[in-house]
Formats: sequence, structure tokens, C-alpha cells
Amino acid sequence: MTALSGASEGGPTGAVASGPAPRRLEESEALRLGTDIQRRIGVKTSRQEPLARFTTMRVGGPADLFAEVRNLFELRAIARFVRSRGVPLFILGRGSDLVISDAGIGGLVVMNRAQQARVEGSVFITDSGLPMAKAATLTKEAGLSGLEFGLAIPGTVGGAVWANAGAHESDVASVLVEAAVLHSGGAEERLDPAGLGLTYRESVLKQAGEGAPDIVTQATFQLEPAEPALISQRLDEIRRWRQTHQPLGIPSAGSVFRNPSAELSAGRLIDELGLKGRRCGGATVSEKHANFIVNDRKGSASDVRRLAEEVRATVLRERGVELRFEIVFAGDWSGWDPAT
Ligand SMILES: Cc1cc2nc3c(=O)[nH]c(=O)nc-3n(C[C@H](O)[C@H](O)[C@H](O)COP(=O)(O)OP(=O)(O)OC[C@H]3O[C@@H](n4cnc5c(N)ncnc54)[C@H](O)[C@@H]3O)c2cc1C
Repeated sequence: MTALSGASEGGPTGAVASGPAPRRLEESEALRLGTDIQRRIGVKTSRQEPLARFTTMRVGGPADLFAEVRNLFELRAIARFVRSRGVPLFILGRGSDLVISDAGIGGLVVMNRAQQARVEGSVFITDSGLPMAKAATLTKEAGLSGLEFGLAIPGTVGGAVWANAGAHESDVASVLVEAAVLHSGGAEERLDPAGLGLTYRESVLKQAGEGAPDIVTQATFQLEPAEPALISQRLDEIRRWRQTHQPLGIPSAGSVFRNPSAELSAGRLIDELGLKGRRCGGATVSEKHANFIVNDRKGSASDVRRLAEEVRATVLRERGVELRFEIVFAGDWSGWDPAT
């Protein structure tokens, strides 16, 4: 079992509940499983693969077993295979919403790089491993508007559907027609935004069982034809906005907390309490954007989490507002002690 906590889990805070230690694979079990995956599906695996470099926050311990898939055949085959063996599975996109624990993730971590995409009229159909920024530029080249906000999201289409990611007055739900979802039971179905339960940074996919995720395999977007020059202008505006407002080029996982309401931003609350620059080990509340925690590249997942919890507690104490996490604390947090 892999402990995973997003905004919708672990109660109102999104914090990881202290529960039983997640199931880890014995060295011999990981070795056998890796050999079988290579033989049956043709995908190489590695054991004890450090995960920090696959995340934008640059923290996180190893995966018991790790594989990278390059197409939907591999993604589906590997997911069905490990589930038939009862092995916990974790799908990794671009790791841009994650704080993976220093102890790492138990079971098999599959990094999704399935990224075939095509345009049919004004519809864009893509595999879930395509980066959102690439979706923005591909659709611009096709003269289609609607996915420009994807430029602001350094994750995959699958991760964006999972979180109903959004920016610049838009989100996935505004343009998504349907997503294909491979359920943990093995069946695959197409769900529209209502079926996916897409609301502000929320989806039913977040409720899937620990270690047994519902996997987004493909997504279909309805876009609008527009002048390429106008789309380019919009992309330039978004690029400039990000450069001015976000600490780019420094490890982070984007916004730490959801906004409590449309009128009240988490960043403003944190800024007003003078928490910018607050440090915990190698983690710091960004001076540029108070709702970002940045890592000086030497920080640990524990540093990030302790700082995030401290900010949350301060906002609750001083302002009476209970912030909910937008970032996801993934992996084995069972031995984590906030005091150390
Ligand atoms: C600098 C920066 C700026 C950001 N700005 C924004 C912003 O403006 N708006 C916004 O909404 N977010 C923003 N984010 C957060 C992040 O980019 C998004 O949440 C993104 O959608 C995460 O996608 P990912 O592929 O990186 O997912 P990951 O971080 O790899 O995974 C996050 C969760 O999604 C699950 N997941 C990933 N792929 C799949 C799949 N195919 N099927 C099922 N589950 C899956 C994972 O298992 C995990 O639980 C920002 C992040 C950074 C670092």
C-alpha cells in the first residue's frame, strides 16, 4: 500500500494520516517482478531508483521498482500485469505536483511518457503522458485555441486531468470532452468532466484506493479555431506573467495550498503574515510567490513538509483559516515525525 495524500485525502488538511506502514517489495520480489515485466512486456525496470530527479521539487527517496513507459500499450499492459500480482502501483507524470517522501514509494512506480497526439478538425486527442506545455504549442500550430493555459502547467495531460489543473481563468474541465480511464479492476471507460467529478483542483480520480490508481490513458479536448497570431500573443502573455510572478528555475511543486475561496488567495494570506522567506532546512517560502515553497536543491521532503505544516498552522492560528493542500504528499510517510 502506498500512502498518498492530496487535498481531498487525509481529512480537511490533506495531511497523511498515520496508518500502517505501506507495503514495500522485498529485494527478491522486485527482482522477479522486474524480470517478468521485461520478458512479457518488453519494458526495462530498475530497482531502488531515486525519484527526486523525476520531480520538480527535487526531493524523494527510491521506488522499490521503477519503469518508464513510452506508449499506451506498455502503460495498459504493465498496469494490468502488476495489478494481477497485487503489487502497489503509482503513476508518475512530470512530478510537478508531488512531494515524494524521503523513504520513497513502495511497489512499482511507472513514469508515463506515452505522448502520441493528433488533431481532428477542432478536436485534440492525446495520450496522457504528453506535457501540457506541448499540448499548448501543438494546438497553437494547428490554429486551435483553448489549451493556452497549459503553458503554465509543467505536468502531463494525465496529471492535469487528475487535478483538474488550471490557470489564467481556465482549467481542464473547461475544454475537456472526455478522458479514457483505466480502472484498477482492469476495465477502461470514457468519462466526461461530470463523470470525472472535475471541480476546483478536484476529481474523483483523487479518491482511488492507495496503490491502486485509476489511470488516465487518453484525453480529448474541444477547441476553437483562432488566428495563430492571437494564440501566440496569449501564449506570450502567459509566459511573461509566469516569469514575473513565479519562482521559475528553482525547484518547487507549484502552489502549496488551494485558495480558500475565489476572493481569498492562499498566497495573500501567507504574505500578510510575513511568512515569505521562512525556512526549514533547505526549504523556503518563496520571496516571489508566498504560496510556493522552493528547495535550495539540498532540502529534503521532510523539510518541505515541516515548513508547509508550519505555514498551515500559523495561518490557522492567526487568521482562523484552514488551508488545504494542493500539492500531494506521496509515498511512504509512515515513519515521518514532524518534530525531526
Ligand atoms: C512551477 C509550477 C507551476 C505550476 N502551476 C500550476 C498552475 O498554474 N495550475 C495548476 O493547476 N497546477 C500548477 N502546478 C502543479 C502541477 O503542474 C499540476 O498539478 C500538474 O497537473 C501535475 O501533473 P504531473 O504530470 O506533473 O503529475 P504528477 O505530479 O506526476 O502527479 C500528481 C498526481 O497525479 C497522478 N497522476 C499523474 N498522471 C496520472 C495519470 N495518467 N492517471 C492518473 N493519475 C495520474 C499521480 O499519481 C499523482 O497522484 C504547477 C507546478 C509547478 C512546479
